Amino acid sequence: MALKALDIYKLLPRKNCKECGDPTCLTFAMKLAGGKADMDLCPYLDEEAKSVLGATTRPPITLVKLGIGERSFAVGEEFVLYRHEKTFYNPPGIMFKIADTQTLDEIRAVTTRVRDESFTRVGADLRFNGIAIENASGSADSFARAVETVEKTADLPLVLMATDTAALSAALTHCGTYGPLIHAATQENRKEFGALAKQHGCPLVIKGKTIDELAQLAKDCITEGMQDLILDLSPDSLQAFIVRSTTIRQLAITRAAPYLGYPVFLDASIMEMQDAAIALGIAKYASVIITTPLSPATAKAALTLRQNIYTDPQKPIQMTPGLYRIGNPAKDAPVLMTVNFSLTFFTLQGYLESTRMPCFMLIVDTEGLSVLTAVAAGKLNEMLVKDSIKKFALEDEVSHRKLIIPGYASPLSGRIEEVTGWKVLVGPRDAAEIGDFLNEEWKK
Ligand code: SF4
Repeated sequence: MALKALDIYKLLPRKNCKECGDPTCLTFAMKLAGGKADMDLCPYLDEEAKSVLGATTRPPITLVKLGIGERSFAVGEEFVLYRHEKTFYNPPGIMFKIADTQTLDEIRAVTTRVRDESFTRVGADLRFNGIAIENASGSADSFARAVETVEKTADLPLVLMATDTAALSAALTHCGTYGPLIHAATQENRKEFGALAKQHGCPLVIKGKTIDELAQLAKDCITEGMQDLILDLSPDSLQAFIVRSTTIRQLAITRAAPYLGYPVFLDASIMEMQDAAIALGIAKYASVIITTPLSPATAKAALTLRQNIYTDPQKPIQMTPGLYRIGNPAKDAPVLMTVNFSLTFFTLQGYLESTRMPCFMLIVDTEGLSVLTAVAAGKLNEMLVKDSIKKFALEDEVSHRKLIIPGYASPLSGRIEEVTGWKVLVGPRDAAEIGDFLNEEWKK
């Protein structure tokens, strides 16, 4: 079980020397309990305290890395059951599945799509993560050929899905050094699959029909020297997945079942409703999700959902404050000031681009708060606007002294005029109306 801050405090030397960077041992203990500090920051811990703290402060779910290079990713190292308690850290890898019975051209096409496709949303490039190759043919040669084709087309993380040791071994000759995830060891084949995983340094999915069976299999694998495990819960329905995945997450984060402290695998492609399975997997603790190649609409929905679930709920997504250009604005172009809440920025930017009127966006630092919240909290005020005009050298960029502010910031218009000397135009409350506003108010 996780230790509470007071229990941790009792293990500390209690010198209050501040060498850990915290003002007191108690604040350091509170950070340790919340997983926000490393025990190594205190130089005075004895070995016994380190061993007790190490067991309780290390992540309850092991971090497992898939692949190598630029597109590699890590899953696990999560600390909470509910996102609002803290945040979810490592988004699930979503991998497109191909079978070794498909033509090599089809395999290349799917691989190329995963390699190249990218969807930009609120400033982030969203992508699928890799390819899962299934040994549907049962032939070791076909499997090896399919894996070789994927491997020669793109450097992507792979999942090798086979039940036959010879087929797996043949595939690993092509990609064994690139850290593919091996799917899946059962109680029957764990020694052979485990030996291949250890030989090639690959993470290994273990598969069991019940939670008890999985825990025993994990224990056996760990005893035999395998460390990077991922759990396939073998769900036969979405309900079974939710129940098992939630149970395992609860057991893992409370450290009640240490052998279950590993990321979870979900093959959505074999579930009755694949799209629903992907959504559930993202929301309910799957760390590797396998799917058939998705339609463009479903692909965007899945990537958007994953981005939203894995965004820190306590930190609004922020833009870097600064002066942004839409098109190539001249010295007489309009200047629109707004906050650095990224949804505000990207919504306004989209509407401004559609007006085809080059302009400047002055983005001020409200710590990611929206306009309405920033005005109410006093974060958006006349001095911030004045300082931003100076900091981003706006007066050098334009020949006029007119600033368009968001409609919801209208209470500040007089004070901004007073401290900046700029004429303030109050824009619309709805960014969708900015085109009409500019045509009517700016051009007249
Ligand atoms: Fe306490 Fe250790 Fe921090 Fe010093 S370094 S204040 S002893 S926790």
